[in-house]
Amino acid sequence: MRALVKLQAGPGLELIDVPEPACGDWDVRIRVLRAGLCGTDLHLQQWDDWAASQVHPPQIIGHEFFGEIVQVGAEVKELKPGDKVSGEGHIVCGYCRNCRAGRRHQCIRTIGLGVNRDGAFADYVVIPVENVWKHPADMDPDLGAIFDPLGNATHTTLQWPLVGEDVLITGAGPIGVMAAAIARHAGARHVVVTDLSDHRLELAKVAGADLVVNSARTRLKEAQKTLDMKEGFDVGLEMSGAPAAVAEMLENMNHGGKVAMLGLPKSDYAINWGRVITHMITIKGIYGREMFETWYLMNSMLSTSAQLRNAVRSVITHRFPAEEWAQAFDVARSGECGKVLMDWS
Ligand SMILES: [Zn+2]
Ligand SMILES: [Zn+2]
Repeated sequence: MRALVKLQAGPGLELIDVPEPACGDWDVRIRVLRAGLCGTDLHLQQWDDWAASQVHPPQIIGHEFFGEIVQVGAEVKELKPGDKVSGEGHIVCGYCRNCRAGRRHQCIRTIGLGVNRDGAFADYVVIPVENVWKHPADMDPDLGAIFDPLGNATHTTLQWPLVGEDVLITGAGPIGVMAAAIARHAGARHVVVTDLSDHRLELAKVAGADLVVNSARTRLKEAQKTLDMKEGFDVGLEMSGAPAAVAEMLENMNHGGKVAMLGLPKSDYAINWGRVITHMITIKGIYGREMFETWYLMNSMLSTSAQLRNAVRSVITHRFPAEEWAQAFDVARSGECGKVLMDWS
């Protein structure tokens, strides 16, 4: 089968023929039809310190996908060939305290699909049955391919009640844009999105942001005035990993504000702890998706709201055949895009 592989410890990727993966008794083999490109994949291609610490070549990368089951293991009862599915990319141990308490997203031994084991940028991928999410038979393959990052956006955005709240989202990458759509859907009053790219801010606007702010030109204090806000934001969703964005977010939160942090910073940085303390701000780190509460929420929100479906779909700006993977990676790296998909069908 075709697979996009990290062949050796260093920069680069190659599309090569490899043997099809074997399907164990508790596994499901999936024909990949669509796959989404993620910042993680760019790190793996480029081979930074993080990538070097995680990946053991040769390894197939990729974790965001939609496909059709072609084979189920002997012990798999609930799923069958022909089912349309995506996969939860975090494979957990099942034995640690958090796993046994049902908090599987907090597993201390999480294995990442396409990072720590062979992934989904291939004709076929094999994952444990408990990581499979079955879609309705008529699921749009493009939407199915982005359930992983939509899950990040959903899990982050729905940390706290948003009805009537003023929500600030820093970072208008695909997850930030989808977060704007979900915050709008969930009943926020004002949804404000910041970024340094006008192109990305335009996507956020289309997805449902009331006001977009280019941090290179405009300060959030002015944005608050534009919206006639008097006291600051109630909820902050940090999607950029940029220290300057975090600093400005903290400067603009109301007393008792709540901040969910998803964007990963490149390195350690200082924040204004005095402000966090005196403004009684709650800061919570977010990683992955809740298994599988987040997946149920995504399914029910998308199946009941055409507006949300359209808003989420609008984040997909580019589609490439798998053979043109290199162009797909170039576009994703340029930043002048939303979500980039690869067609493996
Ligand atoms: Zn991803
Ligand atoms: Zn565990």
